Amino acid sequence: MSGQILDGKFLAKRICDELSREVQVLKDKTGQVPHLVNLMLGNEPEACSYANSQKRTAQQIGIRYDLVQLPSTTKQLELENHIQKLNQDPAVHGIMIHKPVPNHIDYRRIGNCVAIEKDLEGINVSNIGKMMLGETLIIPCTPAAVMEHIKSTGVNLRGKEAVVVGASEIVGKPLSLLLLREWATVSICHIATSEARRLQDHIAGAEILVVAVGKAGLIKGEWIKKGAIVIDVGINQVNGHIVGDVEFESAKERAAFITPVPGGVGPVTVVMLMRNGIEAYKYQKLQNKVERLSL
Ligand code: NAD
Repeated sequence: MSGQILDGKFLAKRICDELSREVQVLKDKTGQVPHLVNLMLGNEPEACSYANSQKRTAQQIGIRYDLVQLPSTTKQLELENHIQKLNQDPAVHGIMIHKPVPNHIDYRRIGNCVAIEKDLEGINVSNIGKMMLGETLIIPCTPAAVMEHIKSTGVNLRGKEAVVVGASEIVGKPLSLLLLREWATVSICHIATSEARRLQDHIAGAEILVVAVGKAGLIKGEWIKKGAIVIDVGINQVNGHIVGDVEFESAKERAAFITPVPGGVGPVTVVMLMRNGIEAYKYQKLQNKVERLSL
């Protein structure tokens, strides 16, 4: 029997509806709504189209979202000054820096410029450290979206074998911490796992498998453990089509749950950005220090 498809658009809509109710309550309480700013250098069509999709989602939820476009030649210091102004503006509650940034920009330094309480993407090193300790409400958006998909299956992760393929700073590493917080037994695979020809062995034991590499067809369907939850974060262009890192058709015959690409993790990621914006607003306006994550 073929696995259940985890429909990202459906899940995104459900969370959007919840967030929109929350924003209405906040509006009644504070007379305002969260105001988020996306700082973009340049105007690459792909980046603009992603920003448009963020804007549409913000509108659905009732959040104010502004795209601020600066020339791609903007210097590091100018960008840092711009961020400082937004940090100090009490009318702005959340800031994100659109990626990719031009090569002359030091992204790590920029991330640390964003005020901790306005850091929509969790890129300030303090928020990264706090996440490690379970002390922040701001969770990087893609790992948060993966966790929402897993949560939607209703499967309890405690004691389950979870394998994350890909160990990037923005997906694999933070995700492994979130899985650990749910008491899964977590393995992280990466390029050296493949070089050592151990990838298939790890995947064979994975009850929860998350793949975030960016290589079409890296994970063969027959490697998947029967009954696994498979979350494919990868985005690859193949012959004009978008595909993930997992061989979808054969994997879905073995998995209990599987995300499609496109239409799986992507739509939920955008909504997680908005959720971070709402958490940032609540923190700033209501000093809401309730922890979403705790061991
Ligand atoms: P990255 O390039 O920063 O990291 C890739 C990781 O994969 C590295 O840890 C590397 O060691 C590992 N890797 C490379 N080749 C491998 C192999 N043959 N076997 C095992 N591991 C290997 O990538 P990233 O920024 O984390 O993005 C990964 C993928 O996820 C990309 O396709 C990206 O487009 C996609 N992505 C999707 C979303 C979303 O919201 N859907 C968000 C971010 C990234």
